[in-house]
Amino acid sequence: MRFVVANWKMNFLSGQARDFCEAFLAGYSPSPSVTAAVAPPFHLIRPVADSLRSRQVRVFGQNGHAEPNGAYTGEISMAQLQDVGCSGVILGHSERRQLFGETDDALVAKVKAARDWNLLPLLCVGETLEERQQGRTLEVLDRQLSILARTGPTPLWVAYEPVWAIGTGLRAEVGQIREAHAFIKSRIVTLMSLNFGPVPILYGGSITPENFPELLDIPEVAGGLVGGASLDPAKFATLVKQA
Ligand code: PGA
Repeated sequence: MRFVVANWKMNFLSGQARDFCEAFLAGYSPSPSVTAAVAPPFHLIRPVADSLRSRQVRVFGQNGHAEPNGAYTGEISMAQLQDVGCSGVILGHSERRQLFGETDDALVAKVKAARDWNLLPLLCVGETLEERQQGRTLEVLDRQLSILARTGPTPLWVAYEPVWAIGTGLRAEVGQIREAHAFIKSRIVTLMSLNFGPVPILYGGSITPENFPELLDIPEVAGGLVGGASLDPAKFATLVKQA
């Protein structure tokens, strides 16, 4: 099984999302061996879920709060994400970590809350350029994954997203991806004692239809988490087809 997830980030007004869904569905045929998902901004989740559901495209949140409800102005809970049609949620994206101070501690509670509300967490991990240059990539991945020792075994997808490859056009090299994915897999096996079957490990960072086939040839890569290229319905349909 391969996985392709569109991360729309803070893009699109309702009309644009409607146009996207129409154009994407025109070029998309579901395949039993590919799971496709779209993570729209909050205000678009319901219409996108309604439009994509009949074609088995899943809808994810881009973030969620650990508490089910309460005085958290500006936040959205896992319960609310589930209520509007999500079946998963991206957690720990580097933009959340870097721009909004998301900590590993906060992620423990978020992963548990996602599980409680039947949302599949897509946990993002990855090193900054500085950390890679200092030879600390595996140490950083280890720290980010260690939250799984505190969440307990849980169904999960992971995305390896080197921060320096996100939105930069600088895709990681095959050797770098293989090393990181093999490390992530071995840590997950240890930390979660794998009662839940294999955890798919996606790559993310400047994926395009031009480079995706090469990425999919890497045995450790189960699919892609796509930002920029996922805003173009024809490109996203191509990426799903390539998977
Ligand atoms: P990008 O973003 O494809 O634009 O590099 C990936 C991501 O942020 O998940």
